[in-house]
Amino acid sequence: MKVLVPVKRVIDYNVKVRVKADQSGVDLANVKMSMNPFDEIAVEEAVRLKEKGKASEIVVVSIGPQQASETIRTALAMGADRGLLVKAEGEVEPLAVAKILKAIVDAEKPMLVIAGKQAIDDDSNQTGQMLAALLGWGQGTFAHKLELGEASASIEREIDGGLQTVDVKLPAVMTTDLRLNEPRYASLPNIMKAKKKPIEEKTPADYGVDTTPRLKVLKVAEPPKRGGGVKVKSVAELLDKLAEAGAI
Ligand code: AMP
Repeated sequence: MKVLVPVKRVIDYNVKVRVKADQSGVDLANVKMSMNPFDEIAVEEAVRLKEKGKASEIVVVSIGPQQASETIRTALAMGADRGLLVKAEGEVEPLAVAKILKAIVDAEKPMLVIAGKQAIDDDSNQTGQMLAALLGWGQGTFAHKLELGEASASIEREIDGGLQTVDVKLPAVMTTDLRLNEPRYASLPNIMKAKKKPIEEKTPADYGVDTTPRLKVLKVAEPPKRGGGVKVKSVAELLDKLAEAGAI
């Protein structure tokens, strides 16, 4: 069974993001970039399926600039088999990503696509759902646990009130939540081995997809600065202060 994992290159989650002076976006100059954390979880899940003998091949795809090939290499070092870089500069919105992924799925015919639940840069939480809709496949989003069968998958999902289990027929799309697994660090020998694994390069035009943005960002702003705290002498005073602030 082939598994396809889309991985996005994003600002590293440890970096303190700075907004550009003209408020047109965030500053990406000299900023550390890494694989989207939810996509690391997706790669880990695919590698575990391969280790259990349930997946035969793991293909990773990234849509982004040339440097996104480093993100693909990280996935290859974790245990994926081959990569596909769809070279695109600038912002590629979830719908365009989903259309490119649909074309790749049509060509590669995986039984399962494991994407992240959201990219931590745009926080869209749309690509997996849009891909499932374009393909007409079932989907299990916010996955907490996966039991993969021959013709179906049982996916435990994280929802507001707790957990929900859905059965989806394969082929299907799954998106990962935080507690699905803990991704491994690639070992040095595996990093060396990954250098020899193939990465094919394509462009959105090869798939007939126009990546021109449909949304216009009007303004990006820093969150408001936190005000200073105050010390209170008693619970009663605390309650008074909270009531004054309209918090209770
Ligand atoms: P989003 O809908 O933008 O929050 O992204 C959800 C998931 O879709 C990510 O965790 C990735 O698995 C996948 N994805 C989004 N954008 C890209 C991209 N440019 N390249 C590869 N995968 C992507």
